[in-house]
Amino acid sequence: MSDNIRRLQQEPSKKWWNTKHTNLILKLDYAYVDKLLLNYSGDNFTISKGEFVCGEFHPKPEFTCEFCGKGRKKNKYTPACFFPTEVGYIYKCSNCETSHHLYQFLKIRNPEVALKYQIERWHRNLTGSSYNCPEPPKSIKREYYQRKEKELKERNKRMYQHKQG
Ligand SMILES: [Zn+2]
Repeated sequence: MSDNIRRLQQEPSKKWWNTKHTNLILKLDYAYVDKLLLNYSGDNFTISKGEFVCGEFHPKPEFTCEFCGKGRKKNKYTPACFFPTEVGYIYKCSNCETSHHLYQFLKIRNPEVALKYQIERWHRNLTGSSYNCPEPPKSIKREYYQRKEKELKERNKRMYQHKQG
């Protein structure tokens, strides 16, 4: 995990990720970041900063750290943030030095949401070894394909009946 983050400092030719999808990932990530901020931080966060990543501007929300509890907005000290990078948002705290990719963070905070996020990324072909989000478990994928197959069969049946009628 932190190894991946360290590798972000590497030169472009050694990158293990594809920046073609960076902005898509960051947009998808931010929908989750946004919900996290509303659910967990109340209004104890600030979004007055941001970063340019692959030519697009992405907000960098700052808040009280979920892990060490340090930081108060009213004291203008918010050491934790969601930081936009080329591989997606990363949770970082400058006080306790916690850092997690968004998927890892979600897994700690809310495994159900983490799975939803994982499936959403998988549908967009944004999981696996070139990404910081693993593919969903086999059972989940099987369930998904079975459901799709059933839907397709039902649609074909309806179309057939429609033609016959
Ligand atoms: Zn912290």
